Amino acid sequence: MNKYAVIGSPIDHSLSPQIHSIFAQEADIEISYEAIEVNKENFKIKVDELLNKGYLGLNVTLPIKEEAFNYAEVKSENASLSESVNTLSFLDSSIYGHTTDGDGLLSDLSEKGFVLESSSVVLLGAGGSAKSIIPSLLSKKPKNLFLINRTREKAENLVNRYKTHFPQIELLEELNSEISVDIVINSTSAGTLGEDIFLPENLFNSKPKVYDLAYSKSETPFNLRAKKEGSREVYDGLGMLIHQAALSFEIWNRFKPSTKGIEKKIRP
Ligand code: NDP
Repeated sequence: MNKYAVIGSPIDHSLSPQIHSIFAQEADIEISYEAIEVNKENFKIKVDELLNKGYLGLNVTLPIKEEAFNYAEVKSENASLSESVNTLSFLDSSIYGHTTDGDGLLSDLSEKGFVLESSSVVLLGAGGSAKSIIPSLLSKKPKNLFLINRTREKAENLVNRYKTHFPQIELLEELNSEISVDIVINSTSAGTLGEDIFLPENLFNSKPKVYDLAYSKSETPFNLRAKKEGSREVYDGLGMLIHQAALSFEIWNRFKPSTKGIEKKIRP
């Protein structure tokens, strides 16, 4: 049986095992897929252990996508561009690193009617997932991509990295009346960690469409706040989770599973 797992922390409530089991049924492949607690400190020991036990691939979630990037020996173009890895594949005694987050997000945004082209987009957060989705967001040529992060320096580094080729990427500290935001994407882990998040005043004044990468049983705390402050259309990241998982499954098994109807089936 082919062994896979998702690793990260916290990992208890991950829906990835359920999603991959649905894909495996469709593909008629026998797999095992577990959720395993791994953090920054024990990353190498734990992943070496899984590799030695014969696991064929790992999905990687917060907060260890940067560690996964450093661990991979051969990186896909998207992974190299974003310096983030969410899919490790152990093949022919090499360790391959991919990121499927950006393409997964674009598929879900498009399904939900978000138009990035020529829009003013605010991206909150500058962690592993922000890194992995920025190249995809920029590929859609938004009018602006404003970055906001609690640790300013991390957002600044990302802006500097892309600025030469994509002048529309900018650091944002506060909103002025000249900026009308069309789309807000939350890639912070504040909600998942049960923490409050500091946001610029008036972020939701222009009633932007909102996409929170986090997902939960009920409305996420971020989406609740967005609605309270003016936004009418808010989505959580469950659709993205399904799309990025389908792309990982395809990398491992060379089978493209259907994503249709899965969101309804597994919505916690
Ligand atoms: P990281 O740990 O790599 O980054 C976390 C980011 O959140 C950092 O920018 C951090 O800021 C910021 N942050 C954390 N706490 C707070 C807070 N209290 N207030 C403001 N900012 C905060 O995590 P990831 O980027 O990997 O994941 C982020 C979120 O996205 C998670 O909820 C994860 O579940 C979700 N996700 C969902 C996916 C999906 O498929 N739906 C895919 C990928 C991620 P600082 O730099 O200051 O520390």
